[in-house]
Amino acid sequence: MSDTCAIDDSPFFNVPKTNSFAGLPTDFYTRLPTTPLKAPKLVHANPLVGSSVGLSSEQLLTQRFLDVVSGNAPLPGGDTLAAVYSGHQFGVWAGQLGDGRAHLLGEVAGERGCWELQLKGAGPTPYSRRGDGRAVLRSSIREYLASHAMAGLGIPTTHALALVSAQDYVMRETLETAAVVARMAPSFIRFGSFEHWAARNAPQNLTALADYVIERFYPECLISESGVADTPDQRYVRLLREVVRRTAKLMAQWQLVGFCHGVMNTDNMSILGLTLDYGPYGFMDAFDAKHICNHTDAQGRYAWHAQPAVAHWNLYQLANSLHVIVSDAEALREALDTFEPTFLEAMQTKLSLKLGLGAWQHGDEVLIDDLWSLMQENRADFTLTFRQLAHAPGLGHADLARVVQDLGGTVSQDIAPFIDLFIDREAASAWLERYRQRVQADGALEKGARIDSMLSVNPLYVLRNYLAQRAIEEAQNGDFSEVGRLFEVLKDPFSYQAGRDAYAAQPPAWATKIEVSCSS
Ligand code: AMP
Ligand code: MG
Repeated sequence: MSDTCAIDDSPFFNVPKTNSFAGLPTDFYTRLPTTPLKAPKLVHANPLVGSSVGLSSEQLLTQRFLDVVSGNAPLPGGDTLAAVYSGHQFGVWAGQLGDGRAHLLGEVAGERGCWELQLKGAGPTPYSRRGDGRAVLRSSIREYLASHAMAGLGIPTTHALALVSAQDYVMRETLETAAVVARMAPSFIRFGSFEHWAARNAPQNLTALADYVIERFYPECLISESGVADTPDQRYVRLLREVVRRTAKLMAQWQLVGFCHGVMNTDNMSILGLTLDYGPYGFMDAFDAKHICNHTDAQGRYAWHAQPAVAHWNLYQLANSLHVIVSDAEALREALDTFEPTFLEAMQTKLSLKLGLGAWQHGDEVLIDDLWSLMQENRADFTLTFRQLAHAPGLGHADLARVVQDLGGTVSQDIAPFIDLFIDREAASAWLERYRQRVQADGALEKGARIDSMLSVNPLYVLRNYLAQRAIEEAQNGDFSEVGRLFEVLKDPFSYQAGRDAYAAQPPAWATKIEVSCSS
């Protein structure tokens, strides 16, 4: 099939694009072109994401595609712009921010709705402040792989379509090279987009934004629960309630894979409840409830245990902004109050599944709290504790190896059994005994079904920092193959992948020295 032929039938290239965001008042954005890069090279393109906008695997490899996702040519039929927003950073009002290094190219129709295509790192915009509008290869690899990892885990996220490297130099702490991530989401609107117009006391723009978000993404908020004709106020309250619900559920999902976002500023909070703006994030290795993944977050504002409360605080800022156009403060407060019960219910439901229990029973909170304490005291590996619980006979590696060997199998050297994750094996055994009794009393699932069910919700492979770091270091030396291998592993994080045990292993000693910090 010729290059042109492949391109010709792609809606991505040929169907006229819209950019509904550009239909908002013109002070929401600035139209401007991207700034081309030197010798851009496609490092990786995501066929799963590509297919959602009608791109075949072959089309992802064409020069025409590379030109668009590197920002060296406009999206045919697109309407390129950078959006303005504001936000609270580390709890402090930061004033105007905006797409300082992001360009929205336009909207591409897919089978399951419209996707905005945005380039991150394609040059400066009027909102760059003192920044250069670029992103370095290191942080771009991290965003590319993390969005893919989250999608594999079934966690709402923006998606990465392509990763492009270039030869342009970018000054950070040292000289690095530039890269671009082409990412997609139904919308990149943030809590900070609302805060921006509230701070400027611009109710017309707030109304325009809220109406746009409701019409496109929350049409259910147009209809009142009672069927009685209601006011725009009530629609906006319903919008807040829905954003609260999605955000609370997202927090439960983050907490239960040990994901730390790192920079939960209000400008990084998606109005659609997606994981947005991957910077100094981290999937926890050794469990520490106070784990801080962002080296610059000295106070631990965004530590793992703080994330749900921060999300609630961020929603409070969103509610405050909506208060400019909603007079009924009590109704906004009630919507905010749904955060905690929604979060707790999502945690309970998911924890029951993770532990292979039937419905939540009185006393389960004690069993689970004791597991968190045990993990904390032993700095047990987050991912493997939950994963290995499914096969927890209480045998350590040596005994297990003998038993399995007798049965003609082998035990991985890399993936420690449950009991070996704890230094205090006695305490871990005692907890296991209580857990066994709870499972037996439950009897909701027979053993095989319970194990299968647990394995389907507890991932074996997550994007551990050291895995990303190894791929980055190799990429910085010109070898991108590890990015591709990690991509394959993370595609299906719940299934055991023969020959890839090393990707499930706990970090080597050097990993503790990895430091990741804000915007790069
Ligand atoms: P972040 O911490 O990546 O969410 O970015 C916070 C703000 O700084 C956003 O408005 C970004 O667009 C902006 N920003 C971050 N890095 C750069 C950069 N290299 N050039 C321009 N703006 C940037
Ligand atoms: Mg951001």
